[in-house]
Amino acid sequence: MPLAERTLTVVCLSAAVLAFAASLWVADPALKVFLDNTSWTLAFWLSAFWAWRGWSAARSSEWRLHRGLLAFTLLLAVGQGVWNVQVALGWNPFPAPADALFLLGALLWTVTVIRATFARLSRERAYTAALDFGGAVLALLAFTLVIYLPSRGVGSWAVGLVLILYPAGFLAAAAVTALAVPTVGLRIGPAHALVLAGMLGYGMSWMQWNLMVIGSTLQPGMWFNASFSLSALALGWGARGLRFEATQDMAYRHQCDRFMNYVPLMSMTLAAITLVLLFVAPDGRTGMQALILACCLVVLLLAALRQTLVVSLLNRLRTAEAAVLRNEERLYQVAHFDALTGLPNRRYFDDALERAVADASRYAQAPDRRVALLLIDLDHFKSVNETYGHRVGDALLTEAAQRITRLLDGQGLVSRLANDQFTVMLLRPASRTVLAQLAATLVEGLAQPWELSGVGAQYMGASMGISLYPDDAASSMELVQHAHSALHATKSAGRGSYRFYIEEFTQITRSRLELRRNLYGALQGGEFTLVYQPQLNQQRQTVGAEALLRWSVDGRAVPPDEFIPLAEESGLIVPIGLWVFETACRQLAQWRAEGWQVPVMSVNVSTIQLREPGFVQTLLDTARREGVAPAGLVLEITESQLLDESLYAIALDLRNAGFVLSIDDFGTGHSSLVKLKRLPVGELKIDKEFVRDIVVDMNDREICAMVNALARTLGLEVVAEGVETEEQLQLLVKMGCQRFQGWLFAPALAPAQLAAQWLQKHPQG
Ligand code: C2E
Ligand code: CA
Ligand code: CA
Repeated sequence: MPLAERTLTVVCLSAAVLAFAASLWVADPALKVFLDNTSWTLAFWLSAFWAWRGWSAARSSEWRLHRGLLAFTLLLAVGQGVWNVQVALGWNPFPAPADALFLLGALLWTVTVIRATFARLSRERAYTAALDFGGAVLALLAFTLVIYLPSRGVGSWAVGLVLILYPAGFLAAAAVTALAVPTVGLRIGPAHALVLAGMLGYGMSWMQWNLMVIGSTLQPGMWFNASFSLSALALGWGARGLRFEATQDMAYRHQCDRFMNYVPLMSMTLAAITLVLLFVAPDGRTGMQALILACCLVVLLLAALRQTLVVSLLNRLRTAEAAVLRNEERLYQVAHFDALTGLPNRRYFDDALERAVADASRYAQAPDRRVALLLIDLDHFKSVNETYGHRVGDALLTEAAQRITRLLDGQGLVSRLANDQFTVMLLRPASRTVLAQLAATLVEGLAQPWELSGVGAQYMGASMGISLYPDDAASSMELVQHAHSALHATKSAGRGSYRFYIEEFTQITRSRLELRRNLYGALQGGEFTLVYQPQLNQQRQTVGAEALLRWSVDGRAVPPDEFIPLAEESGLIVPIGLWVFETACRQLAQWRAEGWQVPVMSVNVSTIQLREPGFVQTLLDTARREGVAPAGLVLEITESQLLDESLYAIALDLRNAGFVLSIDDFGTGHSSLVKLKRLPVGELKIDKEFVRDIVVDMNDREICAMVNALARTLGLEVVAEGVETEEQLQLLVKMGCQRFQGWLFAPALAPAQLAAQWLQKHPQG
């Protein structure tokens, strides 16, 4: 406390005590009155001073409340001043002007507390708190009236009003101050107690004083007179140190809430006691009786209202809780089950597998505690999906899920892992033989034709990889990895079958991963080259060349069939493909500049590239930059890929830009005539699979003949690829085929070699 404040406090306090002591001691009534008023005035102004100190030290968030306290104490002090003037004038009416100031102080404070309290409450809490506050204040008022005004005549209505207003004002102020503590969850301290005591003491002193005025028992220089000063000092000192800090302590807040729940009960009890008292010792005046009765009734009403509010709040809470539960359930469903097939999804599966493996590991000694994992992949699903659209693809997946579930006949947990991949987890499989039987059943069952509405029967088998815990893997993650390796081995060996995991598969998978890692640096590392395979006409003149990509890692050539899928999976095919296109264009321009005749250059394009935004423009820009017209470029797109309807628009754009589109590997996809007619293509390439067996296989010969006939009708060029023998060539010529590509003539060659051996110079001039 600063020195000035301390000095002022000590001087004022000593003076007030001295004045009071003197008032008890002196005999002259007039002097007694003077001393009384002196001590009051000193105490009141000291109280206001302290409140001012509290206000100036308050944080901005508590500023308003402290201002309320300051105003309260100031009004009391000013009221005392007015009182002094009244006394000096010898004018002593009842009620007096000073009363107005005192009551105004109490009212102001009450309003301040209520506003500050309710500003911190949510709407719901504010309603119930308002009812609690109202009920408590009214109950207290009714009770006070019943014990304070026992059927005494009060003269005028103004006297009666003031008599009621003092308890009403100060008790309300005290009650509200007290209730604010648990309502907001304030940490209660000595300062609170002092403020409360000050308000209560002041109010009760006034109540007693007023009674003494009416009863004419009032005397100056009584011990009682000190109660005003003491109350004011308590109030002021409390205001000086008061803090309105809501605690974050949850246990304390719960206690506060619990206490608030009892407030209506306490109010009702008080009201009931009041009623009893009223009947035991009825107040003579009906007006007062009615007022007390009304107060009690309103207390009951407020308590009932609060109860209703709380109940409806509880109901809403319960509804909200139910909604949250439902939502959680739905979220669980969405998070753990596949929307299309209704099967558990990867997440569910991962959890279940992990649990199963953990469980099995706990009983590692027991050999029957094994976990088997079957990984199922539908063969050629992608091409069906792309050919017939996603609706058919979805129907197929749903059907596959049902079929797998049915074939398993209640054994194991089926999940859908990804697109067309399913897993079956089996606990405690009896033996590998039993597993093999189950796998065979599944493979056979899934190879049965799929009847799909609108597209008829489809043949589409499944491949499977199987791994076992703990035989093949030490963890659930490894178990999955190894099932994948086994599946990959199955696929590499020709699909439509199953395989158990063996150690060597890991090696294969690992080298695949390594290859993929290497691929990332291949473009920058200049590890790619292009070779060119000539295309010839019936007169064995070179009419074009196909650019084919080569990659060698550490001097070892990696076949395109191995790395192209990896590039497609990782999206690297986009920059790689662009490099191929650019390099091929440059080569074409260079050959032509050197005077070689190369009518067209074929470049392979993956659909992943087609889906790149701005692809057509990129190709056009590149071709222009390299000085090649689009008409000299054939873009080869694999049949199964091109038939995805979503690519029609891009294909059309490419055609309109002047490029020639060619359907690569024709015959392996699911093209229908109708689709072929709609596609903006200029060329078909008969897949080498058909050409290979054309001499021995009637079926393949038939297909080749049909493709040629079809192309003629549609006005398309046909290129037969993979021509290796003279017989093949002759048969193809007979079918009307015009262009050929294959090892019979030349493999893919380096540019210089191709030019030297297979290109012709333009006739000079
Ligand atoms: P493709 O487009 O069908 O290419 C023809 C493949 O057949 C080439 O294999 C070629 O070397 C081979 N071939 C040529 N003549 C004969 C023959 O008489 N008999 C046999 N058995 N094969 C012959 P390659 O170069 O290994 O390419 C394989 C596949 O890789 C290509 O098949 C193509 O789909 C893809 N590919 C190659 N280069 C690229 C490229 O730059 N971009 C894209 N997206 N794919 C490419
Ligand atoms: Ca090709
Ligand atoms: Ca081909």
